Amino acid sequence: MVHANSIFAACGTTIFETMSRLANASGAINLGQGFPEGLEPAALIERLAQADRSGPHQYPSMMGTPNLRAAVAAHEMREYGIQTDPAQVMVTSGATEALAACFFGLIEPGDEVVLIEPLYDSYLPIIRRAGGIPKLVRVSPPEWRLPREELAAAFSPRTKLLVLNSPTNPCGKVYDADDLAFIAALLEQHDAVAMCDEVYEHLVYDGRRHRPLRSLPGMGGRIVKIGSAGKIFSLTGWKVGWVVAEAELLTPVAKAHQFLTFTTPPALQETVAWGLEHQRDYYDGLAAVLEKRRDRLAAGLVQAGFGVLPAEGSYFLTADFRPLGFDGSDVEFCRMITEKAGVAAIPVSAFYQGEAPAHFARFCFAKTDGAIDGAVERLVGFFNV
Ligand code: PMP
Ligand code: GLN
Repeated sequence: MVHANSIFAACGTTIFETMSRLANASGAINLGQGFPEGLEPAALIERLAQADRSGPHQYPSMMGTPNLRAAVAAHEMREYGIQTDPAQVMVTSGATEALAACFFGLIEPGDEVVLIEPLYDSYLPIIRRAGGIPKLVRVSPPEWRLPREELAAAFSPRTKLLVLNSPTNPCGKVYDADDLAFIAALLEQHDAVAMCDEVYEHLVYDGRRHRPLRSLPGMGGRIVKIGSAGKIFSLTGWKVGWVVAEAELLTPVAKAHQFLTFTTPPALQETVAWGLEHQRDYYDGLAAVLEKRRDRLAAGLVQAGFGVLPAEGSYFLTADFRPLGFDGSDVEFCRMITEKAGVAAIPVSAFYQGEAPAHFARFCFAKTDGAIDGAVERLVGFFNV
């Protein structure tokens, strides 16, 4: 008797955990796993200390505290002009739990789910465990343009869901208005729903604005939006996320959520609610700060000899290491620079199934200037530039 589920048993340990362990063991500067440094808002941390003393500390509603549900609804209205009732918001323990609750709550065995590679690593195992059948389409470097005909061909009468992550992890793509209009038409044509993973919604650069699919005419009833306070406030360990959807979609998602985590620590929820209302300057200004860090790291990687691809959003730069003369795989490259150069990165092939581009490393630029400069110095030294 094998005492394990075959889908999860077949997965390795996630690449983020793997590379952070290796970075720690090697004393490397960690530009691998996507967590920010030097950006944590002090006022919010102080507020959590107060909430920790005053409570509440008992189970809140499984749907989230009224204050946080109202604050998320108000954020949707303020940022995107989308009228949202707090009843359309459910708080989750991070976007990761939100994704799992959505997949388990919405997928029936045999349903097809259209996804776009490269993609975040938690999607496929949960979709498969829920009985869904992934249909994968790829955006290709360097522009990561959406192959519209292939996307349309991936839909069938069995399609239930499309997963859209914009801004995208790992490649930093931000879907533009034309892409969104094309996707919206496909959803209508096939009576399908989109799960919009918008955790990087405030991290969009070069004067662009994030445009949620939910804001397009007629899309309200077809969209499940996922957000993350961890990304909005650069506090990824807090694991407070949410799902925004109309009742027909939110109700089945809540049925799954009640048996996954049921609820999320109320002191954290109350603090995030306060932050969404009172720390707007923080998250409205975050993109300007991160854009500078992106440019600082991009210039350093170019100096070290990498080919650097454009990043319109997210925390991440994609760097081509072939100009350095390394002809092994991206996994070998990332191990080598972590252990030998003292800089950790993530191999981009981890965001694909099967045959994948194997010459890109993903570097996180949401780090202090000191960490970025230190990493560049190490890479320049290691490659003898
Ligand atoms: N979706 C994407 C695209 C991500 O990059 C991440 C990880 N940061 C998540 C979801 C999970 O977010 P959280 O930490 O809120 O669970
Ligand atoms: N989303 C983060 C990244 O892409 C990591 C999240 C995790 O470690 N599970 O690096």
